[in-house]
Parts: sequence; C-alpha cells; structure tokens
Amino acid sequence: MLHLLPRVRRRKVQYIAVLRCPHCRVRVSEQMPSEGSVLHTKCFCCGKFLHAHADACCVYCSMANVPCPKRQRKQGRRG
Ligand SMILES: [Zn+2]
Ligand SMILES: [Zn+2]
Repeated sequence: MLHLLPRVRRRKVQYIAVLRCPHCRVRVSEQMPSEGSVLHTKCFCCGKFLHAHADACCVYCSMANVPCPKRQRKQGRRG
C-alpha cells in the first residue's frame, strides 16, 4: 500500500531582511547569515551601530521586517 505523507507546507526561509535605522531612518536590505546571530550591524548611511534589543536574539529580530533564518525555521516547524 502506498503511504502518502501529509503535505507539509514549507515556508521558504528569507535571507534578505530590511532593517530600518532608528537614527537616520534609512532602509537597508541586508543578507542574513543562515546560522548564528548578528548582535549589531553598522548603518551604511549614518555609520552608527544598530544593536539588538535585550530581549531579541539578534538585530534582525529586533528591527527588521523578517526574523532571522534561525527563528524562521523554528516558526516553520510549529504547526
Ligand atoms: Zn543610519
Ligand atoms: Zn534572530
């Protein structure tokens, strides 16, 4: 008998995040690493460092439009 696996809706992991600099409000699209956490990045426009919030795992989870790939994978596994 053919056993059919339930179709899992796989969410595509996004690696490009759009960060908004809180200092000069410029939007920066950055490539996120697939592993590891980025705790700070430098704004290309004003040169100031953007730091991750204390309760977030990384700078992208703090202020980007998408969470980091690590978090996206964790969310995708749920449900
Ligand atoms: Zn800036
Ligand atoms: Zn993160």
